[in-house]
Amino acid sequence: ASGYCLLRDPRHNKGLAFTEKERDAHYLRGLLPPAVISQQLQEKKLMNSIRQYEVPLQKYVAMMELEERNERLFYKLLIDNVEELLPVVYTPTVGEACQKYGSIFRRPQGLYISLKEKGKILEVLKNWPERSIQVIVVTDGERILGLGDLGCQGMGIPVGKLALYTALGGIRPSAEYAELLDEFMSAVKQNYGEKVLIQFEDFANHNAFELLAKYGTTHLVFNDDIQGTASVVLAGVVAALKLIGGTLAEHRFLFLGAGEAGTGIAELIALEISKQTKAPVEETRKKICLVDSKGLIVSSRKDSLQHFKKPWAHEHEPVNNLLDAVKVIKPTILIGSSGVGRTFTKEVIEAMASFNEKPLILALSNPTSQSECTAEEAYTWSKGRAIFASGSPFDPFEYNGKVFVPGQANNAYIFPGFGLGLVISGAIRVHDDMLLAASEALAKQVTEENFEKGLIYPPFSNIRKISANIAANVAAKAYELGVATRLPRPQNLVKCAESCMYTPVYRNYR
Ligand code: NAP
Ligand code: MN
Repeated sequence: ASGYCLLRDPRHNKGLAFTEKERDAHYLRGLLPPAVISQQLQEKKLMNSIRQYEVPLQKYVAMMELEERNERLFYKLLIDNVEELLPVVYTPTVGEACQKYGSIFRRPQGLYISLKEKGKILEVLKNWPERSIQVIVVTDGERILGLGDLGCQGMGIPVGKLALYTALGGIRPSAEYAELLDEFMSAVKQNYGEKVLIQFEDFANHNAFELLAKYGTTHLVFNDDIQGTASVVLAGVVAALKLIGGTLAEHRFLFLGAGEAGTGIAELIALEISKQTKAPVEETRKKICLVDSKGLIVSSRKDSLQHFKKPWAHEHEPVNNLLDAVKVIKPTILIGSSGVGRTFTKEVIEAMASFNEKPLILALSNPTSQSECTAEEAYTWSKGRAIFASGSPFDPFEYNGKVFVPGQANNAYIFPGFGLGLVISGAIRVHDDMLLAASEALAKQVTEENFEKGLIYPPFSNIRKISANIAANVAAKAYELGVATRLPRPQNLVKCAESCMYTPVYRNYR
């Protein structure tokens, strides 16, 4: 046991926080300067130095370096300063990091599986140092944020999601692709068992829906872009009802963008309305319209539509642009999920504000450059009446003497707690009702004080408590559905979730 190795192992390193006794017991004498400082002080110093960087990408690199040096300190910083650091390790900065991944690359993280490894995936998995795995985030790199195919540079996303992850680098869809995926899915189950959660991340929609349907019956799989997004947006919409009034079923929804995010959200909203009203989902879908790159999705286009759009092909005259669709459909809720920025124009927002007292505008496209409109635009063009939330964060904005705080419909509200709920219950399958359970738990965390500022999501500063509540609600649903394997069911699931959560305080080495 050399002290030198201890200092170079990010799992164990605590830097100057090693106590005098630990320094004696673990051959650390002389390897560190003689001062001993606390984790709190280390945190303060590091935050101070990170705040000196003006370029967000420099902050990102500093965080990645910290993760490689001292894992617990990295998580301590992230947990204690989540509102400040989430935009650094996640959208929008992670998008730039992926685009420049090659030039900021330090040490490889994650596992790369390319076609060169076809037929050898089980061997590749065995090269990973960890034997017991709970969560895998896997991407094929083809649709990173709204930035397109970044190939193996997409690794920045799973890394940014702070989970254990595996990536399939930059390969195009083909029969070989399906075979490779299949081999991967089997190898994972063979190597890690039935209860490992596999999170599909940033796959392009022409594969994402099929993979989810295909493996949903045999593996514990979750697609964050479809299901996580749906759950976080449904939570925001449900919370927003407190501000805009009405029940979910009384609203009309229009989406710009009918891909993974758009149709995923639409389907979960339709499912929730169906649960509330007992109407079949085929009926409740009619309250929701979607516009894609060719205009409104209508029945006359049905034959040429991708299968995931077909349920949304309602009887309606063709409409070929968003503004006209807004004018004829008169939605109460407008959701942007096209990946194309500046598409909620002044005319669009003004139209929304002309027939809604409080239009709900969600500009979900990431990163910031792709946002359908800015917070400032939504508030100004609606004369301060819009309730606004976005995918990437915007600063508070003052309009006519009132400060509006835009909410962030960030998947990071849902997927960590959702995954924790699956892990603590030992769930072996994901069910849509669990997504509804997660939304319900999140929506409940929005307080009166939040609503007063126009917020439809709670602040990230409470994220650990929020995640514990989501985990408990998801686990409860897993037990109810009979897909939980951890028996007997713990009495208090919130307590159980909290006690299972990782905390980054340093361990004592004796
Ligand atoms: P996707 O599956 O590729 O879908 C994009 C959709 O937008 C497609 O239906 C596409 O139409 C449509 N579209 C593209 N350009 C358009 C245009 N100019 N006018 C109208 N429609 C257009 O992508 P996705 O996974 O849904 O993601 C879309 C965006 O949502 C990304 O920017 C992503 O970052 C963001 N997102 C945000 C959150 C969040 O806020 N929490 C979560 C997930 C995703 P066609 O089908 O006709 O090509
Ligand atoms: Mn994603």
